[in-house]
Amino acid sequence: MTSRVALVTGGTGGIGTAICRRLALTGHRVATNYRNEEKARAWQAQLRAEGIDVALAPGDVSSDEDAEAMVRAVESQLGPVEILVNNAGITRDTTFHKMSTLQWREVIGTNLDSCFNVTRPVIEGMRARKWGRIIQIASINGQKGQYGQANYAAAKAGMHGFTISLAQENAKFGITVNTVSPGYIGTDMVMAVPEEVRNKIVAQIPTGRLGEPDEIAYAVAFFLPDEAGWITGANLSANGGQYMGW
Ligand code: NDP
Repeated sequence: MTSRVALVTGGTGGIGTAICRRLALTGHRVATNYRNEEKARAWQAQLRAEGIDVALAPGDVSSDEDAEAMVRAVESQLGPVEILVNNAGITRDTTFHKMSTLQWREVIGTNLDSCFNVTRPVIEGMRARKWGRIIQIASINGQKGQYGQANYAAAKAGMHGFTISLAQENAKFGITVNTVSPGYIGTDMVMAVPEEVRNKIVAQIPTGRLGEPDEIAYAVAFFLPDEAGWITGANLSANGGQYMGW
């Protein structure tokens, strides 16, 4: 496989780490963003101990100025971004009638505005070079909705609308744009859910377990090779069979 430059947002998190690791192990040059430098350098050192090098650039993906600076910092270290994985995300769960403006805006800003903020500075270069891969990490809850997650489900469903529009606009430029929609994966985000609630979730998953971060990384990697150039505007559900709709 050709070695490409890949930017994975939120690479220091549970799923992001698995994506960075898998992309680096398949020969790509990988970068991610951070907000806390000390934490990110410790994470980078852990991966280096495994023989994996991931470049770092500061940036909050909910800010368009930060995102632009982050992309330029990655480019100056590794070269033009050829693969973008919009993975950074947060939850601020509560039922809608109790939801604050801040809880709404933080979730939309980090999960959805970020797709605009980070993709905008990379898209012109991809179009000029006639090759690119853009992948959004959405969620099963953007497909089926979720009690207590009107903000998150709206953002994740919005990522799919973003994907299918960008896919149409950029197909002639050798750029594919796809979404991976994970089900429940055993990262900090899900382990923060009370155990009793988590057990009820697991009971609804046909495979009878939470997913592993690398199972999402595998789904991302599927879209990357040249052979995947015909696959664009797709949504790949990776959820242990919990939801089998679009
Ligand atoms: P984690 O909480 O483990 O990691 C989230 C990552 O995003 C961290 O690196 C975090 O950095 C980063 N991040 C958060 N906010 C910002 C921001 N404003 N700017 C820059 N970076 C930010 O989450 P997961 O690995 O579990 O989730 C990754 C993605 O997968 C998310 O989009 C999530 O919605 C989605 N997903 C996860 C599921 C799961 O079961 N875990 C299920 C379905 C979808 P920092 O350390 O600075 O906070």
